Amino acid sequence: MVDTVSVPQATDPFAKTPGWLDWNTNPSRPRFALPPGAVDAHCHVFGPGAQFPYAPERKYTPCDAPKEKLFALRDFLGLDKNVIVQATCHGSDNRALVDALRAAKNRARGVATVNRNVSDAELRDLHAAGVRGTRFNFVKRLADFTPREVLLEIAHRIAPLGWHVVVYFEAQDLPELYDFFTALPTTVVVDHMGRPDVSKPVDGSQFELFVKMMREHDNIWSKVSCPERLSISGPPARGGEQNAYRDVIPFAKRLVDTFPDRVLWGTDWPHPNLKDHMPDDGSLVDFIPHIATTPELQRKLLVDNPMRLYWDMSDDEEAFEDIPGTTLFNGTQSRQGYYLNMFCMSLMKDENRKAFKGDEAAYLETFPMSDAQRDAGAALARTEEAEPARGRQRRQWPP
Ligand SMILES: [Zn+2]
Repeated sequence: MVDTVSVPQATDPFAKTPGWLDWNTNPSRPRFALPPGAVDAHCHVFGPGAQFPYAPERKYTPCDAPKEKLFALRDFLGLDKNVIVQATCHGSDNRALVDALRAAKNRARGVATVNRNVSDAELRDLHAAGVRGTRFNFVKRLADFTPREVLLEIAHRIAPLGWHVVVYFEAQDLPELYDFFTALPTTVVVDHMGRPDVSKPVDGSQFELFVKMMREHDNIWSKVSCPERLSISGPPARGGEQNAYRDVIPFAKRLVDTFPDRVLWGTDWPHPNLKDHMPDDGSLVDFIPHIATTPELQRKLLVDNPMRLYWDMSDDEEAFEDIPGTTLFNGTQSRQGYYLNMFCMSLMKDENRKAFKGDEAAYLETFPMSDAQRDAGAALARTEEAEPARGRQRRQWPP
């Protein structure tokens, strides 16, 4: 599907890290048919270096992986949208990311890297380009250490934008990071299930701690991506392999089954820093039905969840701020409003209205609200309580 091999061009001032594995230019066509509107919620762009130089403080120099190749892969695999995550080789210079987001129009969102010096104007520009989160890296070989109070300060800066924090760490470091993660004031998305050691039992103490963190904190989400980084026994996803990375399946499946509304999936194209093999992205798509085993789970993982996290906020919201009393509803709120309207409509009948005024409890006894109506009422009440002005639920900070 992609006809040119990614080799550094003559103008490319950057030599790849020795042993670097380039992305696969010839993926297989997936057998698994993705649901309409599926989102690749974790992928990257690299450069091209000649246009968007790699950061001086980078820990690796990749091959180029420009936006055009990412969009070609998206279309080839049958995906609809991308969430592009700032690659560590670009440091906190988000220009390549922003360029890709703008080019994708509304079909991509981004996760940027920002430091404490970022201005409010820069944050607003990133938001306008489609950025909806920032990434904190705790894998020391990939980025320099940032003190936690600085990260917390950044989290507070981005929280009012409705952004979330993406965290990347390895499982053995979770006990030490647990309190920090669970104190963050935003939604927190964990990359690649917190990189569990899949040679350990799926109900062993290491993964159990991760599951507990998600169970006890409903603002914590997980990407169930990157089996190619976690698998020990394989077989690798090469050449259309249909049973790849079997040892990772129980871990990802457990999260999808237990937290179906808080999981995301992504290709991780162009697969930075792989040492062993480069997976076939078509086979990675074919991995999905092993971990999300029903159409409903697949739709949540690939469509509903990423859409809620990345696309639900209306881009036009700011444009209406000058019109007092205007609230733009997202899809969920619209549905809730619809069911409430239906209930209110029943009161347009004179006899119903009289009965309702006469004895509310008895009326609701005679004309019980459906579960959906009751849920909608309760949800709206909760939302109003949390954030009356804008009708959107946000966590309290400080707690
Ligand atoms: Zn990645």
